[in-house]
Amino acid sequence: MKLSYSSYRSYIECPQKYYWKTIKKPCSIKLSKYFSIYGIVIQKFFEYYVNTYVKTGELTEEQIKSHLKLHWDRTLKKEYVVWTDPWCKQTSDEIFNNIYTDILLNLKAFNFFKYMKSEVVFNIKLVKSQDELTGRLDFILNNPDNTVEILDGKGTNKQDNVDYEQLYFYALMYYLKYKRIPDKLGFWFYKFQTIKYIDFTMDDLVKFKDKFALVKKTIKEAKEFLPPPKIKMSKICEWCDYKYDCSNFLTKKEANRIKRGKGVPIANTGDIQEFGL
Ligand code: SF4
Repeated sequence: MKLSYSSYRSYIECPQKYYWKTIKKPCSIKLSKYFSIYGIVIQKFFEYYVNTYVKTGELTEEQIKSHLKLHWDRTLKKEYVVWTDPWCKQTSDEIFNNIYTDILLNLKAFNFFKYMKSEVVFNIKLVKSQDELTGRLDFILNNPDNTVEILDGKGTNKQDNVDYEQLYFYALMYYLKYKRIPDKLGFWFYKFQTIKYIDFTMDDLVKFKDKFALVKKTIKEAKEFLPPPKIKMSKICEWCDYKYDCSNFLTKKEANRIKRGKGVPIANTGDIQEFGL
């Protein structure tokens, strides 16, 4: 079996989501990526910047803008964004300009780029179980003083709600590959030009390893993959790509609507009514 951090996290949140993701079930309704587009594009830019551009020397602001435009156009072709949705507060030009400004600010704020590698893919076969762990580390920083840092890029508006386990997983992958625990683990918040390092000990990593192994075993032995009985209409469901295919979500959504007094079905008389805009 292959297991990445994101599949492990999906299983913990909801086994049904994990299962549908694993079999790559197509979603019946595509969800707009409006809220993720900033993170996707800035991440892509820094990935290419670190792996390619930085080696070709300094880029002018104009060159940065034109490289960014390439990533932006490519991403918009691939991702689905509905700019007319009522919650889209920013236009596509405004988001593009925010990304451009934040790139310049980050490039000024940090001077580590030439020591970095980005989007490093790890595929590690476990000797005993023959299972495979896979992962993509956003950034590995090999400092001149021989210390190693692993950074995960974040395009969020807030600096809380970070998932420490994600970095623990990357630290373990790094250890399995290089037999060395990284010196620092941190989240790089692009919108704040800030890196927040987390405190961790060997004990934290060992505890996480045990928890991960247990989840892996549970998945392997599972006969069915159902949503947890008490899953609430939380952010987990709201952000789930499969929510419109999930009877659990749809039933709870309808129940909430009725509770708020909006769900009393209006008898359909067959009249045609005009909706005012
Ligand atoms: S909508 Fe919620 S319950 Fe349904 S699959 Fe997604 S996470 Fe699970």
